[in-house]
Amino acid sequence: MTVHELLQGVQAGKRRHLAKAITLVESNREQDQKLAQELISKVQSGKETIRVGISGVPGVGKSTFIEALGSLLINQGLKVAVLAVDPSSPATGGSILGDKTRMEKLSSMREAFIRPSPTSGTLGGVAKRTRESMILCEAAGYDVILVETVGVGQSEFEVASMVDCFLVLMLPGAGDSLQGIKRGIMEIIDILVINKADGDQEKLAKLAATEYQNAFHLLTPKFENIPVQFATVSSVRKKGIDETWEKVITFIKALKKESLFQSQRKEQELNWFKRLVEDEVLRKIWNTVENKKAAEKFKAKIASGEISPSQAAMEFLNQI
Ligand code: GDP
Repeated sequence: MTVHELLQGVQAGKRRHLAKAITLVESNREQDQKLAQELISKVQSGKETIRVGISGVPGVGKSTFIEALGSLLINQGLKVAVLAVDPSSPATGGSILGDKTRMEKLSSMREAFIRPSPTSGTLGGVAKRTRESMILCEAAGYDVILVETVGVGQSEFEVASMVDCFLVLMLPGAGDSLQGIKRGIMEIIDILVINKADGDQEKLAKLAATEYQNAFHLLTPKFENIPVQFATVSSVRKKGIDETWEKVITFIKALKKESLFQSQRKEQELNWFKRLVEDEVLRKIWNTVENKKAAEKFKAKIASGEISPSQAAMEFLNQI
């Protein structure tokens, strides 16, 4: 398929074309990357879309939640795309999000498009492809893009930096619930959802929500006039899912009212540009044969104590 054919198909909302376009974006071949860039630069989406990041530890119920939320949105007449950023794949080849067939019901729906995480590359590379896949999904007419990730390493920050609203799922657990929260995560959360609020755990979930709410009071808010929202849900029983979506909508409306919606997207694009430049500069530096040789020379000098690391860095940079 030519770029033109792909473009036509994607913009006409054809799944086969969208899937092929994403495969092109995910390819490591230089030639494919050129075509992918050409495609990305040409696609257009005039539609208003909502990008939501969904994170949480393995087992918290992300796929069950996304399946319930996705079905609800489709019933409202929306088209939903689910993309994933799986930080484990580059390192181990394995996946934390799971290779098992997830979200079976949602994947069988015509208005849903589900794409697992790209299977190779660094976290930065995986995030780059997910970002571009998101653009393609929007051009193909998807209204809501759900980007799923696991609460491991840097992947949450990667996802938070590409969405309008970042939602984190937590488990009920009284007293110790705050210990489970990683440094820096609280500052990027827009909506905190306690899942598995059913049966014996329902009370604990409500308690945990109150505890989090109290803890968040002590933080400087991410957006001055937009408070973090809290919800308790049971994804298996589909309880609280619609209320949670209402909270997402309320949050998005607040962003728009404060003129932050577009400015956040623009800022994300500018950061993204900077990041791409930095990654490419580094790649170019370390991939040049002479630079590699020079670096080896300096490493040996540092190892023998002949030169300090900072001196070596200065000399290396001057040399290249
Ligand atoms: P993920 O690893 O975060 O995607 O979690 P899954 O969606 O695969 O769910 C992990 C387990 O928790 C499964 O056995 C689910 O059936 C269960 N689970 C998910 N949501 C709920 C819920 O709301 N209540 C209860 N009781 N179990 C749930």
